[in-house]
Amino acid sequence: MTHDPYVIDEMISAKSIAARIEDLAKTIQTEFKDTDKLVVVGLLRGSFVFIADLVRELDLPVEVDFLEASSYGDGMESSREVRILKDLRGQIEGRDVLVVEDIVDTGHTLHQVIDMLNTRHPRKLKSIALLDKPSRREVDMRADWTGFEIPDEFVVGYGIDYAQRNRNLPFIGKVRFT
Ligand code: 5GP
Ligand code: MG
Repeated sequence: MTHDPYVIDEMISAKSIAARIEDLAKTIQTEFKDTDKLVVVGLLRGSFVFIADLVRELDLPVEVDFLEASSYGDGMESSREVRILKDLRGQIEGRDVLVVEDIVDTGHTLHQVIDMLNTRHPRKLKSIALLDKPSRREVDMRADWTGFEIPDEFVVGYGIDYAQRNRNLPFIGKVRFT
């Protein structure tokens, strides 16, 4: 499967992503304007490029932390049970927290991560996803902010992989098998 030949068709350009992130950053800044410090939590590994660009647009006191939750493995199958593979380094009790996800697909990952983080009693907990595939939803979950809604396509680039490759593409592309 992972060795099938494929090509990548551009879906969202690097320029569009950058423009959208500028807008999203303004919204987040307004939402958290009074914060003493915002803990920005990236879900590894797919959000690493997004979080890097997003925090550089935020004119707020920011701390960055990461969480790794299992979802896809190396293939394309979504699994329902979400496990925490790597927990946060810092405490979030009483803190302002923004969870940064690459894609909300079935919704299970973000839903379970948010539930888990809420048990730690943050002061305010919000979430942002670069991409949303609403047609694939299995649980009633939406990020508070979304970069782009996309159709049910398997996408790569801008941090997002296919079998650990293509994370370094500057744009979002869809995988097409040839
Ligand atoms: P959910 O739990 O919402 O079904 O899955 C979310 C996770 O599935 C995302 O964080 C992402 O890692 C993975 N995922 C969903 N759609 C895609 C996709 O099109 N491409 C890749 N590479 N991963 C995806
Ligand atoms: Mg992910």
